Amino acid sequence: QTKSRPYSVFVGIDLLTQLPILLLRHEVQTKQKLFLVTDSHVYPLYANGILGSLQAAGYDVHIAVIPAGEKSKSLETLDQLYSDAIKAGLDRSSVVLALGGGVVGDLAGFFAASFMRGIPFVQIPTTLLAHDSSIGGKVGINHKLGKNYMGAFHQPLFVLFDVKFLASLPERELVSGFAEVVKHAFIWDKQFVAWLEGNNKALMQRDLPILEEAIYQGCKVKISVVSDDERENGIRAILNYGHTIGHALESVSEYQFYTHGEAISIGMVGAAMLSVDVLDAPSSLIQDTETLLRKFSLPTRIENNWSDEALLQVMKRDKKAKLGNYTFVLSEEVGKTQVVNGISEAKIREVLQKLKRGG
Ligand code: NAD
Ligand code: ZN
Repeated sequence: QTKSRPYSVFVGIDLLTQLPILLLRHEVQTKQKLFLVTDSHVYPLYANGILGSLQAAGYDVHIAVIPAGEKSKSLETLDQLYSDAIKAGLDRSSVVLALGGGVVGDLAGFFAASFMRGIPFVQIPTTLLAHDSSIGGKVGINHKLGKNYMGAFHQPLFVLFDVKFLASLPERELVSGFAEVVKHAFIWDKQFVAWLEGNNKALMQRDLPILEEAIYQGCKVKISVVSDDERENGIRAILNYGHTIGHALESVSEYQFYTHGEAISIGMVGAAMLSVDVLDAPSSLIQDTETLLRKFSLPTRIENNWSDEALLQVMKRDKKAKLGNYTFVLSEEVGKTQVVNGISEAKIREVLQKLKRGG
């Protein structure tokens, strides 16, 4: 439920077969052109099946395949999509289908937000991480000077998460997605944290019904937070738990070294350390955070010697930072998260040292 519009998030096993029916149920008629945007890894795995079922239902589908990877969240790729769309004769009634991870979702979503002043789009996430990125309507691309500098709020028509996609996901990408699942649990729900601890093995072994439950719970947290605050004036900022240090690590390593999840995993440990220092959170928060993240094979320490100056500089530029102060999302305990402004540089330096020393 957002102020702009309510929409549905469907999570299930083998849900993809329902796509044509769901389109019709959302009043997408077969005379409306569909523009399927996907990436070079997902295309050979899934595009043919989807194309077949959409064409069988009578839809006219145009496909755009972008190179896989973060580099495609760029003005150049966006421009290519505009060209493809115009050549394919897309118009205001056309509908975009974003089939892929967060990169495809963010890029195709921004394309949909801007093409002819905005056309509808459907999110069909194929990575675990994209259970997060596909909900909430934040879409956008990167500038060469920084991540997510251009974007829009554009809510999808609906979100369809077929858990079966995760069977083909590379291990490291699965692990990356667990970081956002753990984040959703930590910021919102003690019971969800306990459930993740208990079901860790099944999740790592890709037990589909258990994955389905984790995604469902993660989506519920994301939905609760963004429904209250579509445009991030307040509570939505807690979704950035672990992201201040996380984004800094991604940036100093030029997005080549860490996956997003690995970076925010380390960031959540840093946030826990700061929470103990600044909010008097119990010191067990650090240990609990690390233990759970390690169970999901996520890193909890900075193993490379990235310079503190470079990391601090990115944190200062963080879009959430106000008046040049350092802003962090901190946690008094699981489920009690808040935005804290004006954190001193000295405290952050201490945390960076601890993260690097392993202490
Ligand atoms: P991604 O889209 O690059 O996908 C990761 C890799 O997995 C890619 O190589 C992709 O081709 C491959 N892949 C995707 N699905 C697959 C499948 N089912 N089988 C095999 N391979 C598959 O990365 P991501 O981690 O999904 O998303 C990261 C992006 O999401 C970042 O750009 C980040 O900024 C963005 N994001 C956005 C939001 C938001 O609210 N909009 C939130 C979090 C993250
Ligand atoms: Zn994230």
